[in-house]
Amino acid sequence: MELPNIEEYILDVVDWPKKGIVFKDITPLLESPAIFHYTIDQLTAPFLTSGITKVLSMEARGFIFASAICYKLRAGFVPARKPGKLPRPVISAEYILEYGTDNIEIHTQAITPEDIVLIVDDVLATGGTAAAAAELVRDCGATNAGYAFVMQLDFLKGEEKLDSDIPLHVLLHVAK
Ligand code: AMP
Repeated sequence: MELPNIEEYILDVVDWPKKGIVFKDITPLLESPAIFHYTIDQLTAPFLTSGITKVLSMEARGFIFASAICYKLRAGFVPARKPGKLPRPVISAEYILEYGTDNIEIHTQAITPEDIVLIVDDVLATGGTAAAAAELVRDCGATNAGYAFVMQLDFLKGEEKLDSDIPLHVLLHVAK
């Protein structure tokens, strides 16, 4: 059987949400039962025997992939959210945006030093969000066992912000 090409299920939306951005719309991938299933299998494959106990993901599109991965790995799910969204005490990590900075937060006790964590998102762009997620894992004293992304926008060099000793698993590389 020919392997599916997930690229065909990710649509480029030019100048959205603002001019100069090519937004990667993953909703066609999600709408296809076979391709969504295949994507989750592929994202999970390298980590089946890594002993992952928690999957940490950033709102909002990352959550869609992360929760399916949790089910497959029998891991817990930790949502990293924008400031002010989580109801109990949080720890926070800052990252740089085009203009200014932003933060992501997790509940203080969501990750413990015993946890083995996989960081998941749909897109690795500048790497700021993923680096902030890795900082949260470090701050909790847990083990960061890897990163899994549906796609990486290679030209934004996000990989350089990530610790090169930690496995980075990407299904689709976008060169430009
Ligand atoms: P970054 O911190 O720059 O690596 O951005 C990663 C986050 O922004 C991810 O959660 C993505 O969902 C989102 N993102 C960044 N660039 C794009 C893009 N071109 N298309 C869709 N989502 C993007």
